[in-house]
Amino acid sequence: MNPFSQLGIRHDVVNAITALGFEKPTPIQEQAIPALLTGSSDFVGLAQTGTGKTAAFGLPLLELLDFSQNSPQALVLCPTRELCLQIANDLKNFSKNISNVHVVAVYGGASISDQLRQIRRGVQIVVATPGRMLDIIGRKAIDFSGVRYVVLDEADEMLNMGFQEDINDILSTTPEEKKTWLFSATMPAEVRRIAKNYMTDPFELTVGTKNTGNANIDHEYYVVRPRDKYAAFKRIVDFNPEIFGIVFCRTKIETQEIAEALIKDGYNADSLHGDLSQQQRDKVMKRYRERSLQLLIATDVAARGIDVNDVTHVINFSLPDEIENYTHRSGRTARAGKTGVSISLVTAKELGKIRQIERVIGKQFVKAEIPNGFDVCEKQLFALVHKVKAVDVNDEQIGQYLPRIMDEFSEFSKEDIIKHFASLEFNRFLDYYKNAPDLNVSASDARGEKGAKGDRFDRTGYKSDFTRLFINLGSVDDFTRGDILGYICNTAQISGKNIGKIDLKGVYTFFEVENAVVDKVTSGFQQADFNGRSVRVELAGDRDGGSSRGGSSNRGNRSSRSGGRGGRERERDSGGGFRDFSGKRRERKGERKKW
Ligand code: AMP
Repeated sequence: MNPFSQLGIRHDVVNAITALGFEKPTPIQEQAIPALLTGSSDFVGLAQTGTGKTAAFGLPLLELLDFSQNSPQALVLCPTRELCLQIANDLKNFSKNISNVHVVAVYGGASISDQLRQIRRGVQIVVATPGRMLDIIGRKAIDFSGVRYVVLDEADEMLNMGFQEDINDILSTTPEEKKTWLFSATMPAEVRRIAKNYMTDPFELTVGTKNTGNANIDHEYYVVRPRDKYAAFKRIVDFNPEIFGIVFCRTKIETQEIAEALIKDGYNADSLHGDLSQQQRDKVMKRYRERSLQLLIATDVAARGIDVNDVTHVINFSLPDEIENYTHRSGRTARAGKTGVSISLVTAKELGKIRQIERVIGKQFVKAEIPNGFDVCEKQLFALVHKVKAVDVNDEQIGQYLPRIMDEFSEFSKEDIIKHFASLEFNRFLDYYKNAPDLNVSASDARGEKGAKGDRFDRTGYKSDFTRLFINLGSVDDFTRGDILGYICNTAQISGKNIGKIDLKGVYTFFEVENAVVDKVTSGFQQADFNGRSVRVELAGDRDGGSSRGGSSNRGNRSSRSGGRGGRERERDSGGGFRDFSGKRRERKGERKKW
């Protein structure tokens, strides 16, 4: 028997949701559905978005309402237009095999007359954002005297957005004896108060730990210098060729700037913020949903309630002002049991905020290293190779051109052809990353940066007492980091203390040595051989543009090519380009700062 049938959901609905791919109930559905089906108690569910809560309240509603009556019996209030449409759509899908179910979505920014017309035609379930709902109530265009269930979805977000009074007003038009079901990702005092004011002895349910982010989300942070933030961000994006992400900024201006810079740099990105008209926002969201956009750059407010499946990464280009918002942001990924990554780009000064978020979400962040140029190129190259392997070949179509294509390549060996195809896309990355510097902030840098006012760095943007070297030995030679440390110390006759970070790769390793012993190391390896193979040690700058001694600036080279993705980097030195967004501007005036 289908597990949803066991929970008490009728056959027609089970069939519809099975077609949607719901094979078994999510934890919140498993626990909430039987409780809500009784129809006799209020309910408080503490659950993140993406846990399946729409079906958790939607399926019981479909069992409890009387669809032979064409009058409003259930009202679902939610914070945003996107969520409103999503819920209404879900309810329509769930009920597609039941006759005479009428669901109306009521939200701002769209024609009110259409919505009024739909209401007049008869509706049992109204899904609404508070502002427009109140407008319609004000016009006396709806009768809520027969409402038996009110759902407050994403209650914390509705309160965050200042809908408290609207909600009070709307609820006052519904009957006393109705049941109220409240869902919230977090339980701040304001939401508690709503639960207390509007509910009697509610059935309470917590999925996961209170205030805890979705367990399927990995939280990572990268420590960067403020002026390297954009370059670091691009590198992370380039290192994830299949990324489908939402990038959060703190202000509309920042959102716009980042999106524009990305577009100029050839990325598939656009921005979503409050200064756009509803129509513009719809257009952006449509493109994102359809995956014509790979990166959506958004403010917290604009992105509230966005429900797009399969978002692979949430990137906090800037941390949110309020810790609670971190949960909302990261909840946009890892939906419906999928996994996702929430990445934060922070300066050394902001490390304390990461620790605070960890305490709130009850999960530890992993400190990640910004990939170097070589790694990005490798990743991109193999993404390309896999794409070439997986592409659908239309034999019929291509067949007619094949003789000519073969002719064109007649002089090429198989290897030549492969090299040429791979280079076609890949040269841009090679070119861009050939001299890319290490963007990670080392612990010593971080300490220095903390005290440093105005973030002064040398011309290369790199401040270090260490030099990064390359050695052509790595894990495939059975080295661990400890082994290679010992091997380098022995061969070059230096102490372990002279060595900094070791970055062990497959066939090579990058390692830092104190500037004072660089010559000793390079000369120490001059005659070295390992299992009959000659060992090469070189300045990493020649390989990945790491901090080579003397620090010649590579920036000029980088802006020499433009156009394609990875082509041109934005100027971001102190005078122009990006600002340091550290807490000076607020998107919403008078906002509380919770750090
Ligand atoms: P929600 O939390 O209601 O926004 O749901 C998040 C996503 O999970 C939506 O795309 C739903 O279609 C999907 N979903 C909800 N319940 C299930 C289920 N039992 N099995 C598979 N997918 C589900």
